[in-house]
Amino acid sequence: MVCLICSIIERRIPAKVVYEDTYSVAFLDARPAAPGHTMLVPRAHTLRVEDLTPEQAQALFSSLHRILAPIREAVGADATTIGVNNGPGSGQEVQHVHIHIIPRHRGDGGSIVQSIGPGGRANPEEIGEKIKQAIKPTGG
Ligand SMILES: [Zn+2]
Repeated sequence: MVCLICSIIERRIPAKVVYEDTYSVAFLDARPAAPGHTMLVPRAHTLRVEDLTPEQAQALFSSLHRILAPIREAVGADATTIGVNNGPGSGQEVQHVHIHIIPRHRGDGGSIVQSIGPGGRANPEEIGEKIKQAIKPTGG
């Protein structure tokens, strides 16, 4: 199956590329939620953030760190919302990791990520322990 994001990275589909380096590419979203809405993607075709290697994840976050202020300043925004639909159950439409960077302004009428809801009723102590146990300790 042809991946839309891989096609953009390989320049087989046109997009306004605003940044690229060894691991990452950033381009304007074709259906922007706000002017300057940018997608940052790893060059590696990977479904979820946790499927990236630690090196790829670090490089992607470094690219994010580098491009945020320039994006915000280019459109005169005072903030950004950064979001990842991480896996098909989240509404991820393209099966390739992509970080949405949406410039924001106070009073722009947009929502916050916590508006996803409907919220959980699970016991936080029990869920917290399950997550804690599932996170494997790093070496050392
Ligand atoms: Zn891909």
